[in-house]
Amino acid sequence: MNWIEKHQAYVWEPFAPLKRNFETFLVKEAKGCYLTLEDDRKILDAISSWWVNIHGHSHPKIAEALFKQASTAEHVIFAGFTHKPAIQLAENLLSILPDSMQKIFFSDNGSTSVEVAIKLAIQYWYNQEVKDKKRIVALEGAYHGDTFGAMAMGGKSDFYPAFHDYMLEVESLPFPSDGVEQQTIDAFENLAKQGDVALFIYEPLIQGSAGMRIYSHATLQALLEIAKKYDIICIADEVMTGFGRTGKTFASDYMDIKPDLMCISKAVTGTMPLGLTAVSEKIVKIFDNADKGKAFYHGHSYTGNPLSCAVANASFEIFQSDECQQNIQRVTNSHKEVVSRLEQHPFIDKVKSLGTIISLEVKTGENTSYFNNLRDWLYNSFLEEDVLLRPLGNVIYILPPYIITNEELERVYSTIEKVLTKLADGANN
Ligand SMILES: *Cc1c(COP(=O)(O)O)cnc(C)c1O
Repeated sequence: MNWIEKHQAYVWEPFAPLKRNFETFLVKEAKGCYLTLEDDRKILDAISSWWVNIHGHSHPKIAEALFKQASTAEHVIFAGFTHKPAIQLAENLLSILPDSMQKIFFSDNGSTSVEVAIKLAIQYWYNQEVKDKKRIVALEGAYHGDTFGAMAMGGKSDFYPAFHDYMLEVESLPFPSDGVEQQTIDAFENLAKQGDVALFIYEPLIQGSAGMRIYSHATLQALLEIAKKYDIICIADEVMTGFGRTGKTFASDYMDIKPDLMCISKAVTGTMPLGLTAVSEKIVKIFDNADKGKAFYHGHSYTGNPLSCAVANASFEIFQSDECQQNIQRVTNSHKEVVSRLEQHPFIDKVKSLGTIISLEVKTGENTSYFNNLRDWLYNSFLEEDVLLRPLGNVIYILPPYIITNEELERVYSTIEKVLTKLADGANN
């Protein structure tokens, strides 16, 4: 068997039926913005390998930090023992997080950072013997991860009907689409005023997996004001939005009201598994005692792994550099400038950008005959042009590593235009 045959025989790939009609590519090397395949074909990675890789693949400074840490202390039990990379990382993060954040709780991926936040919010009420704050509120279309608690925050989605009977109860507010924001705000106010809402969890300013859905600053501000008024714990899931993705360090930096808990992963290392939950003083205070019955019993074998932390610290230094900050600005400007051009394409509906993210809706119109396989057709057509873009339904988005050059960005924009022109020509059959 060749490697791909072995992959198909032995590996269970996520988010796909076991029998499937698309190809899986074997990556030989990942460097900068490119994934190189066995036959030396280079694919331009326009989505930062699932929104993770901000500084480009195999960055020499990150590789060096990893090697150094791997030959010093590669794994350390994170209970009763600690290590400098974790302490340094907590200090680094607290220096860029909102001032209200006081402690960092370590885990090992985005979903676990969310599980920790939900559990802390629930136990925050329990520790104070508040019995009637039980309700959980999220936004319709939310994506917070694939473990049970995180999955439940997304409501009873069509993706996982098998689990509907086993999930936490969550109230989903209608998504605040342009023009109907007041509905969302009213729905939240109506729930909140009943006095039993324990927590509100949200992806600040943009929902990722729901289709890069951007919503207004004013709406989020109104929701956070309601939460504050009725003493509801706010959890900002910044797993995708953290580290410059929306133009500021965190999307919450755009807001006047800061969350009580923040979930961080993905770009914090850009490479290695790591999850972090930033905990504000308000929450810490309720746990800050010697009562075993009030302690937070949660941890993972890979909690605060030194390799991941060392890599996160190296990534943090790069992120802080002028060069990286300028790149974020450059990509942001490039996206802003291309909006009106892309909007002119006969097959593009709405185009929106937020920082280094740009999303465009493909028109589906009356003629929906092509719609069923549109997403797969687009994905494959981009790959034929050696560009990795993973549309979400009829939404195409670019979420590049910040080191992407202007020429490479132009290549991605024009590839989208070219592929959509093929679509207009009826090539999708
Ligand atoms: C990716 C993502 C998660 C889940 O992170 P994993 O590391 O994939 O478990 C949670 N929330 C948001 C907003 C995400 O984008």
